[in-house]
Amino acid sequence: MKTYLIVAILFCTSIIYGQQLHKKTFKLMGSRFDITVSAKDSVNASNYINIAVDEISRIEKLISSWDPNSQTSKIISNAGIKPVKVDKELFQLIERALAISKLTDGAFDISYASMDKIWRFDGSMKTMPSEEEIKASVSKVGFQHIILNKEKQTVFLELKGMKIGFGAIGKGYAADKAKQLLISKGVKAGIINASGDMNTWGKQPNGKDWMIAITNPMNKNIAFATLPISNKAVVTSGNYEKYVTFNNIRYTHIIDPRTGYPATDIISVSVFAPKAELADALATSIFVMGTEVGLNRINQLKGIDCIIIDSKGNIHTSNNININ
Ligand code: ADP
Ligand code: MG
Repeated sequence: MKTYLIVAILFCTSIIYGQQLHKKTFKLMGSRFDITVSAKDSVNASNYINIAVDEISRIEKLISSWDPNSQTSKIISNAGIKPVKVDKELFQLIERALAISKLTDGAFDISYASMDKIWRFDGSMKTMPSEEEIKASVSKVGFQHIILNKEKQTVFLELKGMKIGFGAIGKGYAADKAKQLLISKGVKAGIINASGDMNTWGKQPNGKDWMIAITNPMNKNIAFATLPISNKAVVTSGNYEKYVTFNNIRYTHIIDPRTGYPATDIISVSVFAPKAELADALATSIFVMGTEVGLNRINQLKGIDCIIIDSKGNIHTSNNININ
C-alpha cells in the first residue's frame, strides 16, 4: 500500500515566467495518477496531459497481467512450456528487474506473483500459517528461473505455474516514461505522481525547486521534513494500513519472496533516485531487507537516498540526507 499522503508536493503557483501549473487526476493502472505540467495556457496543458495519459495506458497494456492478451500474460501462460518473444521495451524492463533482484539479493523479485496467498491482511486471519505452509507458498518464486535470451528477445519462466508481476516497479516506470515523453514535446516542468511514486523535472514557475514534504504516517498533519527536489524521482511505500498481528509482531503485506514471511519492522520508506522505476523497486525492497540492511545497501548506491520510518516510529536516513 502506498500513500500519496506521506509525500506531498508543495507548490506555489506564479506566472512570472509566463508559465502556469495545470494539474489533472486520473485513474490509471488501478491507481490514482496526478499529472502536473507547466504550460502557457490550459489548452496547451490539456494536450500535454493527454499525451502523458496515452503513454501510461500504453505501458499498462504491455505489463498488465490481468489482460489475457498482454505480452506479460503470454509469458505467464507459457511458463514451463516455452520462451515467448516480446517487445524490446518489455524485455529490457525485465532485464532491469532482474538486475534489481541481484542488487537486493532477491528481496525484490517480479516472480513474487505466483506466491500462494496464505496471508490475509483484512482482519480475517485468526491463526498464523504453519512453517510448512509458509515455506511451500514460495515454491514457484525465484528470479533465477526467469531466463532471458537477448538475441532472440525471448523470456522463459522455467517452472510450471510461475508468474511475474510488475506491481512494485510498473508505476515508477510509467512515471519515468511519461516524464521523458513530455520533455521531448517541450514541456519545461512537471510532476508525474502515481499514488506516491513521482518523478519531477524543471522548476516551479517562480523559478524555485519543487519542494516535497515528508510526514510521519503516525502523525500525518505534521511534516518533519521539507526537501527540495530537482529533476529527480521520489517514491514512498507505506505499509501501515494492511497488516496482521501475531504474538505482538506486526506482519505487513509486503512479503519476502525468499521465505514467504511478511516484512515486520518498517512502516514507511521514501526513496530518492534519478528514476522512479528504480526508486519504486528499492522502496519495496527496503521493506523486505529491513532498516539496517536497507540503509546499508542504499548508502552504497551513488545518487540514491532514503528515509525509513520503523515500526517504533523512529526515523532513519541514508548518509546524504540531513533532517533536523
Ligand atoms: P504499492 O502497493 O503502493 O504499489 P509497492 O511499490 O511497495 O507499493 O509495491 C507493492 C506491490 O509489489 C505488491 O502489491 C505486489 O504487487 C508487489 N510485490 C510485493 N512484494 C514484492 C517483492 N518482494 N518483489 C517485487 N514485487 C513485490
Ligand atoms: Mg515499489
